[in-house]
Amino acid sequence: MSDDPETARQIAELAADDRPLLVLDVDDVVLEFIRPFPRFLEKRGFNLTFNSFRLTGNIAERASGRLVEQPEVTALLDEFFHGQADWQTITDGASEALAMLGDRVEIVMLTAMPHRHRATRRAHLDALGLRYPLLTTEMHKGPALARLRGKKRRPVAFVDDQPRNLMSAREAVADTHLFHLMADNSLREFLPPIEDGIVVVEDWREAAPKIAAALGVAAEAAHNT
Ligand SMILES: [Mg+2]
Repeated sequence: MSDDPETARQIAELAADDRPLLVLDVDDVVLEFIRPFPRFLEKRGFNLTFNSFRLTGNIAERASGRLVEQPEVTALLDEFFHGQADWQTITDGASEALAMLGDRVEIVMLTAMPHRHRATRRAHLDALGLRYPLLTTEMHKGPALARLRGKKRRPVAFVDDQPRNLMSAREAVADTHLFHLMADNSLREFLPPIEDGIVVVEDWREAAPKIAAALGVAAEAAHNT
């Protein structure tokens, strides 16, 4: 797996930190994606009907029934992320969970999206009060995780809704504590069984104490923000 040089550059800008590390995906972990995206599509004359855990092949033009091909899906995603502040709200319980973990862990958000959307996403997360560092990657997440951890073998936890990202993390940092969290649990039926050793959590309320335990930190009271 190769390293995204722009992601590496972003990581180099972060202050050195030796607290336990918590790395979070953004779409459908910190921010809602798969619930607002169909509403965005509808406004543009498209329907999303899930028959599998992917977008391409499941989006159709309403008027004609034509299935939308990959380049057009990419263009729609681009438009959605450009206007994400109008669509993407915080996943239920995420703010409280992260506040509860407090400053005992280093929290970093790692989003797989074109780097050009970083500033827009940063502004949106700031507006929502999620001021944790945000990294973008256009490649696999595992190498970024290894680089973030640094040379010290500090505990690492990683939360993502995409099994392939969890596997990438495991490949790069074998002792990562992996958590599978989906903003919309109804999509689990389209996924193969989650691999052994990955902790499946229903929501942030369940995730927070499990992450704290995995990282070896005591959770703070939720009001202590
Ligand atoms: Mg995601």
